[in-house]
Amino acid sequence: MKLAKRVQNLPPYLFVGISRAIAKKKEEGIEVISFGIGDPDIPTPNTVLDRLKKASDNPVHHRYPESEGLPEFRQAVSKFYKDRFNVNLSYETEIINLIGAKEGIAHAPLCFIDPGDIALVPNPAYPVYEIGTMFAGGETVFVDLLEKNEFLVDFTSIDTQVAKDAKMLWINYPNNPTGAIANLEFFTEAVEFCKEFDIALMHDACYTEVTYDGYVAPSLLEVPGAMDIAIEFHSLSKTANMTGWRVGSAAGNPELINALMRVKSNIDSGLSQAIQEMGIEALSLSQEWLDSNNDIYKKRRDKVVSTLKEIGLDALAPKATLYIWTKVPEGYTSASFTERLLEDVNVVVTPGNGYGSAGEGYIRLSLTIPDDQIDEGLRRLSQFTVS
Ligand SMILES: *Cc1c(COP(=O)(O)O)cnc(C)c1O
Repeated sequence: MKLAKRVQNLPPYLFVGISRAIAKKKEEGIEVISFGIGDPDIPTPNTVLDRLKKASDNPVHHRYPESEGLPEFRQAVSKFYKDRFNVNLSYETEIINLIGAKEGIAHAPLCFIDPGDIALVPNPAYPVYEIGTMFAGGETVFVDLLEKNEFLVDFTSIDTQVAKDAKMLWINYPNNPTGAIANLEFFTEAVEFCKEFDIALMHDACYTEVTYDGYVAPSLLEVPGAMDIAIEFHSLSKTANMTGWRVGSAAGNPELINALMRVKSNIDSGLSQAIQEMGIEALSLSQEWLDSNNDIYKKRRDKVVSTLKEIGLDALAPKATLYIWTKVPEGYTSASFTERLLEDVNVVVTPGNGYGSAGEGYIRLSLTIPDDQIDEGLRRLSQFTVS
């Protein structure tokens, strides 16, 4: 039997190689400390869990959900946009529920890409933008995120003919993996660029609530005109320690939202309503709760950055996200430095080139492991000598 090209063309999952290396160490009796995967170690808040327990008793929730999600969930997202960004959205036409942001991100290219069409995708980036494009039969043209541009998309670097041919553009701020942030000026540029070339603008905004040092991340939808051409994706995975529950949303232009709803209604049957109720609860978490949750990551961030500096890396503390993105020392590649850390001090980090060729020369450390493991990981890292 021959597998379809879209399956043959899939790259190996980034963490497979790493998992293998960890397993090998384990066989040798060594416990590694992994700063690899971004998946909050802190439990889902009790108020959110209690809501599921109650909701599971309601027989209404035992039947098929609507693909677009409960009106009450969409109203909660609308209220979040109003309270947090002062953006007015109709819960009926401008918001849908998602089975995690990843579901909507993977399905969005099916709305805009015909075979051979171009999607503009940042490099490095969350891998799903490119894979979703490939599944839709499209072609990805990468736009490099460079340190000299503070990892923002440089719209002047995009070839005019490519821009004319492109059907969609992905952006993601606060950014995984670089930790970069964007202001409204940048979002305005993105909207102008996409309007000029008739491109659907997709903003992955999963980290707007995971911020530090008083930084408040804007929404793309605050920009006048964004609602004409854009979809913004949100997720409760990182905000409320809910990766296992799969609650996300898409908001934006009603026609684009409707297209995404139609695609998804033909593939999935929506998110369990009891879990949508958890989402409603999570959207009402207080700013105090969010601040204290973020404070746990901030303390970890500061410790990690300080140790990385001690051993000679020029790490910067990001204002948002769960990741430290830092250059490898002279003479190393992402892969060779990652291997050295594993061999010498039994610490796992993610090689930057796993997120795209422009991530070569960097590594990513995630802050989503318990404090005692962070401390042990840092004790080991501090024994590493760059040579
Ligand atoms: C974690 C992550 C997602 C996935 O969010 P889910 O809601 O869990 O599917 C999407 N985009 C980026 C950049 C992420 O880091």
